[in-house]
Amino acid sequence: MQLSQIKGIGLNTEKYLNELGINSAEDLVEYYPFKYEVLENTDPKTIKDGDKIVVGGICENRPNVFHFNRKLNKMSFRLNTGSLVTNVTIFNRAFLKSKIDIGTVLTVAGKYDQKHNMITASELKFGLLSKPEITPVYHATFQISSSKISKLITNALPVVTVKSFIPSYLSEKYKFMPKANALNIVHHPDNKQELDKALNVLKYEEIFKFMLKIEHLKSFKQKEGGIPRQIDTSKIEKFISSLPFKLTADQLKAVKEISEDLISPNRMNRLLQGDVGSGKTIVAIITLYLNYLSGYQGALMAPTEILASQHFQNITKLLPNLNVILLTGKLKSKEKREAKEAIKTGKANIIIGTHALISDDVTYQNLGLVITDEQHRFGVNQRSSLRNKGKSPDILYMSATPIPRTYALTLYGDMDISSIKTMPQGRKPVKTYLKSEKQITEVLYMMLDEIKKGHQIYIVAPLIEESDKIDLENVYKLEEKFTRAFGKICKIGLMHGKLSNAEKEKVMDDFKEGRTKILISTTVIEVGVDVPKATMIIIFDSYRFGLSALHQLRGRVGRNDLDSYCILISDKETKRLEVLTKTNDGFKISEEDFKLRGGGEIFGLRQSGDMNFKIIDVKNDYPLLLKAKEDAENFIKNKKYLESQNQEIVKDLINNQSLD
Ligand code: ADP
Ligand code: MG
Repeated sequence: MQLSQIKGIGLNTEKYLNELGINSAEDLVEYYPFKYEVLENTDPKTIKDGDKIVVGGICENRPNVFHFNRKLNKMSFRLNTGSLVTNVTIFNRAFLKSKIDIGTVLTVAGKYDQKHNMITASELKFGLLSKPEITPVYHATFQISSSKISKLITNALPVVTVKSFIPSYLSEKYKFMPKANALNIVHHPDNKQELDKALNVLKYEEIFKFMLKIEHLKSFKQKEGGIPRQIDTSKIEKFISSLPFKLTADQLKAVKEISEDLISPNRMNRLLQGDVGSGKTIVAIITLYLNYLSGYQGALMAPTEILASQHFQNITKLLPNLNVILLTGKLKSKEKREAKEAIKTGKANIIIGTHALISDDVTYQNLGLVITDEQHRFGVNQRSSLRNKGKSPDILYMSATPIPRTYALTLYGDMDISSIKTMPQGRKPVKTYLKSEKQITEVLYMMLDEIKKGHQIYIVAPLIEESDKIDLENVYKLEEKFTRAFGKICKIGLMHGKLSNAEKEKVMDDFKEGRTKILISTTVIEVGVDVPKATMIIIFDSYRFGLSALHQLRGRVGRNDLDSYCILISDKETKRLEVLTKTNDGFKISEEDFKLRGGGEIFGLRQSGDMNFKIIDVKNDYPLLLKAKEDAENFIKNKKYLESQNQEIVKDLINNQSLD
């Protein structure tokens, strides 16, 4: 059902919803709250100084209002709760003054200051609470608030028909309520017990869907043969010894595991895990070369245009005799046609690109290998579309986000894993400092030192526009600031998502070639970008990122034997961020992310990707996850998908591929 068919959604609202990833009425009702606020009366006997309390009572005077300026005002009145007579102060509610008088019944929530007998309230409601009130809170934007989203969902719920992906025999086994009920409750919870039951149904569904896909991919692997190959390994040895550096033991081990996979008649389905800067790219290049030597085309897929073109340049340099081409969504249509032609006729040996590589209109002549870089940025759906390209290409996934082993085995259950655990020799750990906004002058001096040495600096701003309520340092403001400080001694580049492809490439090139010394950027630099002379990265509003995402960003520096620095600027969540000042071990950091935030946001910003679940939290919901995994295994093993009522479910889940 289209969004525009829902009451209250006009063109603008539709656009704002799209920005939140909501594209249909079905998406809207499955846009789950990220948390709930609970308003519950505090037991008067337990109230102590400094407590956050919720109390209801009768107003005993006309409120006093004081205006500090146009934006700030304060309202005060006296409240009698029966057991307590106290003053209440609340900011910016002057507009309610006319509705409050002697005798008005109110409930307030806020902090109790016993000495001054005062509550500084953050919330005010008319009437008393008859029972705890649970309010869902949705991720919102500047244009569309959480309460607006809530209203729209309320309008949508009665008119949208939702489809459940839980087979009925499992619903019965677990005594799950119907999905429509669960959705209603999740958006309008009445009490905690009911809410937990409803959440459980939706969580189970989400994880069952995911696990069914994984089991499906696994069964693929067992059934299909791969490409048996003959490879002249002397050429590979020669290539490896011609490299400007010696491969590390782990890199060599990964190469060995991969070449055994390639030579074997089974299909390769391998994950190459390794911390940022551990040198996965060269392993990928060797793999592409191995595949080429055995007579097949190879493709390398990257999540961003910048990264794709960086790989393209690297590979062209290292394998000058091969025909390497670049295919991204933003090529001009003539270039695209030519690229596709070269892929189809087999003229292209190696194809580098973004997910344009797997679009339906790209036909390969004889694709033998597909590699995805930064796999965690892609979804499990892409994993299955990849497999359908070519006859049965071998597949290598690369990821810099090491996830704790137990979770990896479950969530990447369909893959073999190679790990690069040690860094290339001579790497020094990135020195990481946590600074507050006030300490910016110190930071400027540190920057000056680096610039004087001829080094380069990344500056990261989280967003290009103020699309969030929180006032963010956006790239433009930062540009202004840093131009004032350094404009006379060096050039500053500006990179963000709204630039065209050509512009982005130019900005990146200028920085790579050292024409600009400072690069101010949104997180488009997050993945893979490699500029050896960059020795400092400064991240504003660091608290907005997950630790793993910050570690990835930090991995942009420290790529050689120079001393390098990461400066985290934040006034909030400093305790969490301190972890980064103490360790450079990506594995430990992701464990810490799990501990602190659960797996839900392990990759920092919410983005489409393997483990970007809507409501599952990998860590806290792990028992449910295991249960769903077992059910999905049985579903496949016992051919439950053959039962007519389940066929619909399966068809939708695995891109219309049949299971037999
Ligand atoms: P990542 O694993 O994060 O993708 P890269 O493959 O981009 O890391 O490698 C980071 C840098 O380390 C690159 O500049 C690369 O040339 C260099 N590098 C890779 N392997 C080695 C090695 N064995 N010795 C020295 N430098 C290496
Ligand atoms: Mg990389």
